[in-house]
Amino acid sequence: MDLYSGYISRLIEELSALPGIGNKSAQRLAFYLVNQPKDKVKKLSDAIVEARDKVQYCSCCCTLTDREICPICANEKRDHSTIMVVENPRDLAAYEKTGKFEGVYHVLHGAISPMLGIGPGDIRLKELMQRLQTDDVTEVIIATNSSLEGETTAMYISKLIKPTGIKVTRIASGVPVGGDLEYIDEITLLRALEGRTEL
Ligand code: ZN
Repeated sequence: MDLYSGYISRLIEELSALPGIGNKSAQRLAFYLVNQPKDKVKKLSDAIVEARDKVQYCSCCCTLTDREICPICANEKRDHSTIMVVENPRDLAAYEKTGKFEGVYHVLHGAISPMLGIGPGDIRLKELMQRLQTDDVTEVIIATNSSLEGETTAMYISKLIKPTGIKVTRIASGVPVGGDLEYIDEITLLRALEGRTEL
């Protein structure tokens, strides 16, 4: 027996499919939403649809943006010879918030994980290598997380880049093991960046 209206059940089902939302939270959100004014709910659903529609990958660094080239890559004042490699746009945002990094980024959208069946071909590595061939890059800073996957990815990228002669560095491991970059405070991030070592 369907305890709720079919529409509510469907909404709960869709919401609980989102990351970090369990069935209880999904129910709470669903009831909250159906009790809101219709225009407020429409605004939310429009925002979701439009974001999905308009957001694309920057053709240079692969971060999410609503333009062909993201504002960081398009900024001529940034140091385009230094590329910081991060796992996802949230990590990029964390470093950007420090306001101290003047280079540009490359977003992998994941990390290599043999356990989860994620190989080098599943993250944006090919795009990074293409950039290194065409742009004038002097240093690649690998700022993947200090998790097993992040370290595996760092090692893999370092081996890949070494033959090109470009300097490869790794942020210092003052960052707690398994810690997601986005949860680490700005001072720790800056220390990790300043204390980076050559691979
Ligand atoms: Zn970009």
